[in-house]
Amino acid sequence: MSFFDKKFPDKIDRLPELAYNLWWSWTPEARNLFKRLDTPMWRQTQHNPVQMLQELTEEQLEVASKNAAFVRHYEKVMLLFDQKVKSNNAWFPNTYPDLQNQVIAYFSFEFGLHSSLPIYSGGLGILSGDHAKEASDLGLPFVGVGFMYPQGYFRQRIPSHGWQEAVYQQININQTPIAPVYLEENKELHVSVYLGDRNVYARVWHVHVGRISLYLLDTDVDENDPWDRELSARLYSGDSEMRIRQEIMLGIGGVRALRALGFKPSVWHMNEGHSAFLLLELIRDKVREGLSYEDAKAYVTKHSVFTTHTPVPAGHDAFAFDVVSRYFNGFWDDLGLTHDEFMALGEHQETWGQAFNMTILALKLAGRSNAVSQLHGKVSREMWQKVWPEKAVDDVPIVGITNGVHLPTWMSSEISDLYAKYLGPNWVEHQDDPAIWQRLGDMPDQELWNMHLLLKRKLMNFLRARARRRWVAGVNDATQVMTGGTLLDPDALTIGFARRFATYKRADLIFRDLNRLETMLLDVHRPVQLVFAGKAHPADDPGKGLIQRIYNFAKSNELGGRVAFVEDYDMHMARYLTQGVDIWLNTPRRPREASGTSGMKAAVNGVPNLSILDGWWVEGYNGANGWAIGKNVDYDDHEYQDNEDANSIYKLLEEEIVPLYYTRDGDNIPRGWVEVMRESIRSNAPEFGMARMIKQYTNELYIPAMNGDI
Ligand SMILES: *Cc1c(COP(=O)(O)O)cnc(C)c1O
Repeated sequence: MSFFDKKFPDKIDRLPELAYNLWWSWTPEARNLFKRLDTPMWRQTQHNPVQMLQELTEEQLEVASKNAAFVRHYEKVMLLFDQKVKSNNAWFPNTYPDLQNQVIAYFSFEFGLHSSLPIYSGGLGILSGDHAKEASDLGLPFVGVGFMYPQGYFRQRIPSHGWQEAVYQQININQTPIAPVYLEENKELHVSVYLGDRNVYARVWHVHVGRISLYLLDTDVDENDPWDRELSARLYSGDSEMRIRQEIMLGIGGVRALRALGFKPSVWHMNEGHSAFLLLELIRDKVREGLSYEDAKAYVTKHSVFTTHTPVPAGHDAFAFDVVSRYFNGFWDDLGLTHDEFMALGEHQETWGQAFNMTILALKLAGRSNAVSQLHGKVSREMWQKVWPEKAVDDVPIVGITNGVHLPTWMSSEISDLYAKYLGPNWVEHQDDPAIWQRLGDMPDQELWNMHLLLKRKLMNFLRARARRRWVAGVNDATQVMTGGTLLDPDALTIGFARRFATYKRADLIFRDLNRLETMLLDVHRPVQLVFAGKAHPADDPGKGLIQRIYNFAKSNELGGRVAFVEDYDMHMARYLTQGVDIWLNTPRRPREASGTSGMKAAVNGVPNLSILDGWWVEGYNGANGWAIGKNVDYDDHEYQDNEDANSIYKLLEEEIVPLYYTRDGDNIPRGWVEVMRESIRSNAPEFGMARMIKQYTNELYIPAMNGDI
């Protein structure tokens, strides 16, 4: 490969190929190979092999190639790479040998694959990234389509006044595992869409995700006006006008990119409504082939799948009719529809008036729709019954398929070694079989506990090293060094909370009765400490207010240095936090949390959840694998609900959690606690891994769509 202007020694000349396939990121042997190449640089680059290979000199690579142990390790990794990435021996081809030439096209506004490719903001992106990785592991005939945002999502800075600042940095393409798609030498593939009064162009970037490919559109190309070049500059910034332009580019430009690349998908999966304009482009294609609108629509319906992700009404994009009319002027003629018939496809009453709603469009035209947990399924069927007024709520065709997490991405390599020891070396392939997880019973308490202590120490070291680096670089002042986790006590019961700071997530719920919390934080024998992280959307001032409130607690010496707020939450930090704290807290105002996935990451690493019975936890909680805050009910009175839930948290901490954690035997092992940890893994790992989820999507959505069943 020609991405590096240096020569790689023959013995290790496939390192660039490895660095440019994100497969390395979820394969412990491959991660360890890069770490071994230069450990300080590995840490300093936040685990970015492309950047490392840019920065290492030819002499350094020469030295590595003369190190026999390193070369053996390299050869082992490349053998595994060829087995896992180049071969077709996987679940889907083995189960459905006749369906291998089908193609599933998966569209998402964001993909959270690795922190070195920061084109995600939160849960939706992480789910897309995990979906793509598992599609690779299971060998699905799968291709992803999204955006390359040259400035990514914002980096968070929290100055000592606590009000979040958003910093945008240009992504350094040379340090990012992406490459442009070329039609021929020196000629990049560019696709175009008509946006109101002119064509707008996009370059197409290619990302290798194990066996599968992801294509990312980027409008920063010479053919475009400066204003259009900015179209894909940043994720989730800009007004509604910008958003509709992005969504037209993703939906329509994405279909064109796949066609230009030669793909003929038989399944079109819209992850969220952002990409739903693709349905209109597909219908138009069919009408151009000579079908009537009705026949074209029926065809597209059979082959399309839609996933809705939030029960919060404002989370569903809707555009004013005049804006849609402007951008789609004449499109209705292409479909053989009138203007009004066209608008009716997305028509919906918003709080601010009649508008064109992307979720309505997707629900009306996609043959199959799903929500992301069972409770979210129920809420969605109620919420969208209006699309099927003739059906009873229970018959509304939105099924619940509960989210999962990609286990190899989110488990520490130490814990996966431990699983290999007790569950068998191929446990990843059998991850959705509850029987193998029963073997955790053979694992001695001591081993599980020591593993946890190691991960907790790694978290504390990570936070300290990070604070030191930022202090030395002049990025952070002394207050920020202090609030960023450097005062945390490795022996204290540590509660983690990290997510997007939207108000319904109630990040400050645990501070509701400050005296009661303070008593626990300041207990000298059995101290409790809290570590927070998360970004608020740049336009969400109430969310930023929550961050400031918590930041001020972190600064306050009255809370004894027992509260930390770590700035700039991302996937890299999420791994350390979900693996290294003692307990994972989640306090959404039920039933707003569609699923949630960070709690699953914690659970499979043996970190029990303390969570509201919302989203996935309604299904995950079994009475012995963590704790449920409040009851399995919904409230109308928020004030009352907040009080009830806060009381429940205090009571659980005071009466159950703190005593259990600090009750140690002669070997200083908290036996009861370790039992909860073990049960957390045993019960949750087979249920909330991505393999279970992808098999369900395949069997319930993809296969019927491939077959054109309806
Ligand atoms: C897992 C993850 C999320 C999603 O977590 P939720 O529990 O759904 O809030 C968001 N951001 C990052 C960086 C993550 O790793």
